[in-house]
Order: sequence, then C-alpha cells, then structure tokens
Amino acid sequence: MDLVSLTIDGIAVQVPAGTTVLEAARSAGIQIPTLCYLKDVNQIGACRMCLVDTGARALAAACVMPVSEGMKVKTNTPAIREARKVNMELLLSNHDRKCLTCVRSKNCELQTLAEELGVRDVRFDGYKTVHEIDNSSLSIVRDNNKCIQCRRCIAACLGVQRIGVIGTVGRGFGTSIECAFDQKLGDVGCINCGQCITACPVGALREKDNTQEVWDAIADPNKFVVVQPAPAVRVALGEEFGMEMGTRVTGKLAAALRRMGFDKIFDTNYAADLTIMEEGTELLGRIQNGGVLPMITSCSPGWIKYVETYYPEFIPNLSSCKSPHEMLGAVVKSYYAEKNNIDPKNIYVVSVMPCTAKKFEAKRPELSNNGLADVDAVITTRELARMIKEAGIDFVSLPDEEFDPMLGEGTGAAVIFGATGGVMEAALRTVADILEGKDLDAIEYTAVRGIEGVKEAAVTVAGQEIKIAVANGTGNAEKLLEKIKAGEADYAFIEIMGCPGGCVTGGGQPIVPARVRQVKDPRVVRAKAIYEEDAALKLRKSHKNPSIQKLYDEYLGQPNSHKAHELLHTTYVDRSKK
Ligand code: SF4
Ligand code: SF4
Ligand code: SF4
Repeated sequence: MDLVSLTIDGIAVQVPAGTTVLEAARSAGIQIPTLCYLKDVNQIGACRMCLVDTGARALAAACVMPVSEGMKVKTNTPAIREARKVNMELLLSNHDRKCLTCVRSKNCELQTLAEELGVRDVRFDGYKTVHEIDNSSLSIVRDNNKCIQCRRCIAACLGVQRIGVIGTVGRGFGTSIECAFDQKLGDVGCINCGQCITACPVGALREKDNTQEVWDAIADPNKFVVVQPAPAVRVALGEEFGMEMGTRVTGKLAAALRRMGFDKIFDTNYAADLTIMEEGTELLGRIQNGGVLPMITSCSPGWIKYVETYYPEFIPNLSSCKSPHEMLGAVVKSYYAEKNNIDPKNIYVVSVMPCTAKKFEAKRPELSNNGLADVDAVITTRELARMIKEAGIDFVSLPDEEFDPMLGEGTGAAVIFGATGGVMEAALRTVADILEGKDLDAIEYTAVRGIEGVKEAAVTVAGQEIKIAVANGTGNAEKLLEKIKAGEADYAFIEIMGCPGGCVTGGGQPIVPARVRQVKDPRVVRAKAIYEEDAALKLRKSHKNPSIQKLYDEYLGQPNSHKAHELLHTTYVDRSKK
C-alpha cells in the first residue's frame, strides 16, 4: 500500500494514498467540523464547513480533498474560522431556528456546530423561504423549513437504498429537497424505511409522532393496553439516555414500560420464536412439496413494500408469515383475550419498534382479524425514549425487571432477529434440529453474521445441502434479486432486511451523529450486543420456548395449521402499477 506523508497543524501524519484530508486529520486526533459529510453515505464537499488551508488552496473542502506527499495542512487559522462562521450564519439565516420545540434539539449537528463555532448572532437576517410541512406519509414527516440542503437524505435514499424518491428541485436560493412533480412522500414509491431520517443532521426529517395516542390509550380506563418491544430496541434505547452505544438495557426497558402504566409488558421476542415455527415449517413444506423457491423472509415491512413496488414478480417468493409484532398482536387479541376473558375490542396493542416502516405496516388492512387491527399503534425507539423522559422516569437508575409471563418469554434465537442474518440463523437452528431429529449443539452460524451487504452460504443439514443468502438494505437486495432473475443463483432460502445492518440500525433507532459514525459503526456495535444477549440466554432455539409450545398445545395445534394460517399469515399487494 502506498503511504503519503504530510503535516496537519504541524503534526506529522502518514496515511494510505487516496485518504482524504478529513480522514487523515481524524487519524491524528484532529476534528474538522462537517455537516454534509456522512461516512460511506455522502461525501460531496457542499456545506463548506470542513474548510482547511492546504498551502496550494487557502479554502479547500477537507472531505473531498485527497492527501498529497508533503502537503502542509492548516485546520485552524483566523481565515478558516471566519469562513466557517460566515457559512454557518448563512445557513442559519434561512433556517427556522425553533430549537426549543424541535425534535432534534440536543442531538442536532447544526445546533452543536453553531455552538462550537461560537456563532452568537446571525448577521444576515432577511427573506426566508417558507415550506409547507409534508405530513402525507404514515411514517415520515418532512419539514423543509429546517432543511440545510446537505443532501445526506438523497444519498441514503438513492445511493444506499437505491430508491431515489427524493431529490433537489429548483436552483440557487429556490433550491429545495422534494419528490418529483410536486408529489408528496405519501404518494410516491417511498418504502418508509426512515434511512433518510437517520442520515439527516437536523430536524428536517422525523418520524410520524404517535406518542399522544399511546398516552391517551394508557389513560383510558376501558382499554387494556399491551406493549411489546422489538429485539433491537434493547441494545439501542440506552443511547438516548447517555449510555454507551451497545449497552444492553433489557431489564430497564421492561421496568420503564411498567412504570409508564402499560397493563401488560410482553415481548416481540416471543413472536419472533413463533415466526420461526411458522416460517421454518413453511420452508420445509416448500422444499419437500416443490413450492416456490427461494423462499424469502417477510419480517421487514420496508423490504415488503420494496418488493410490492419494485419487484412484484417476487411476491410469490415471500413467506406468508406476518412480521413478529403483528403475530403477537394477533395472539394477544385471540388466545390471550380468550384465556383471560377480555373483549378483544378493548385491547390496545402498542409496538415499540426500531423501524418507521412498521407504522405503515400496522395500517395495512390485511393485518387484522375480525375487523380488529393486530397492532393499534407503533412507536419508534426514539419516541419511547421521549415518552420515558416525559414521564420523569430516571431510566439509568431503574432496576432490571422481567417481561410479563405468557407472552413475554423469548429465546436467544429471537433476540438475534435484530441483526442482519439473525432470522436466517434462528431458522437454521430450528430447521436443523427438526431435520436431524436431535438437539444439535453447533448452533452459531457465523457465515451469516456481519455487515457485508450480501452473504451467501451452503449449509448441510441431515445430508441435504441448503443454499442460503442474506442481504441487508434494499440496495443490496436489488443486487441479489437481479442475480436470481439472471439465473445466476439457486438459493432455497433468503433473508432480506430493508435497512442496512438490519433492525439494529433501523430508521426508528437513536440517531448517531456523523462525527461518531466516523469512528464507531452502530451496525457493528449494536449487533455485538445482540449476539451477547443471545449467548447469555439459557434457551437459544425457538422451538424450545415453553410458552410457544403451550400456544400450539392449547390453541393453534400444529405450525401452519388452519388456525395458525388464519391468525399468523398474510397476503401482499402488487403496488407497481399504482
Ligand atoms: S434543526 Fe437543529 S438548529 Fe434547527 S431548530 Fe432544530 S435543533 Fe434547532
Ligand atoms: S423513507 Fe426510505 S425510501 Fe422513503 S424517502 Fe426516506 S430513504 Fe427514501
Ligand atoms: S432533509 Fe436533512 S438530510 Fe436532507 S438535505 Fe435537508 S437537512 Fe440534509
């Protein structure tokens, strides 16, 4: 590898050729401010915050400037400080600056940088562009009055996810980020993944807030309010309370939900185990009876909407299983209601999800039984954190508590649903035991772990080879689907998650600022915590969950039974012509 030697603020640095000045400075412990830069997502030198003096150029954008031999970089001169400050004032001059009521206050990169640059006044207060807030999506709200046109959302949507439903419109002062032809986000082929939200440095993109309706349900004496958090929530929620990235807070999560006033604290992990029973049986059935293969997982609603909109020819390949939280909602309003003599009409199910697409999913008419939606409200990890704060709960000091019995028990196989490859690994743990007819000890399928975009493997079970693949993020899903269409792959089973990294970095998870993402990858750190949680559990295979065994014994009969189909399976819609 060719190395390049240079100095940055007088410090000698040696880095591989092709490294940018920004990365080189970071390796020397020098932090150059950025706004439009987002590691591996957006690197366009547009915001002019990362200006440095390279000798040859007095004001160069460090995020796009490659290092060169002998370069002498200065990052902190009077001219640089003044230029950055003026750029910041210009940005703020056309910004609504309503920090007090902004959802991103205290986690806003613009606010942080303005404070760090010492901007105490905005000298250029003049005409401001005024935008209507786009509230049309069931998952996402766009407020262009706070947009600084960094284009990080466009890079996430088009570059990473390969969707491309937002882009720049207009020129100069009239530029804004919009959908094509004046359409609203709710009317275009947005898959609701929320990756644009977690890329946005400011409050211009946020999730649809459903917290008030959850508070209203809790306060309603006629409602029996059940809550369920997804696996990935427990390895990220702590970040909202200043805890280290990757801290596992499962016990505190259960305690906080109880203190908020929910009637029952169940766990989506229970339903993840149920999903494996249903999906594993479906897969074996398709393999043994010549069904449509490859079968592709259906837990991720961003991925489902992607198939329905962009690849409807793969709809028959989708597992018919509802996603885990929808399964749990269906079980609460049937089995649990019957056992506890509660009218399902009075039950209100709240899902706490790492995902903004689940908000859209919960409103799908197919996801209901007897006219009752399986899930009544979906809130993200971020919304839950806001509710905990609003309730005055000291989260960090909470003791560890358990989920409630009956539908609150989950295995390690369920926990790993939160990371890319986890559903595949969980399914293999159960399918291998069933086909081999014994309780296997080797249960860690490391070939499907990790953040690589597409992972392929062949596993041999009971002498039979099963070809599998795992993709995370719809950009990677596209590569896999195109390969299948071209006849270049013959997998039996595929796991696809709509978000890069899977649910741990879903669109509803705590937002990690760009400068932290430069040195720590939340996909890796949170997934590590997920696998630690799995390893710490006594039961690590879905079919070993005693509560699930009881559900089949007492209510459903067998996996994929008629009753199981009625409650736990669904259908899909071809949205490509709409
Ligand atoms: S986006 Fe940031 S700077 Fe703008 S109002 Fe919100 S917190 Fe304040
Ligand atoms: S939610 Fe996903 S698909 Fe929709 S605009 Fe954002 S990144 Fe694009
Ligand atoms: S919406 Fe956010 S990410 Fe997109 S351009 Fe505006 S500020 Fe940047």
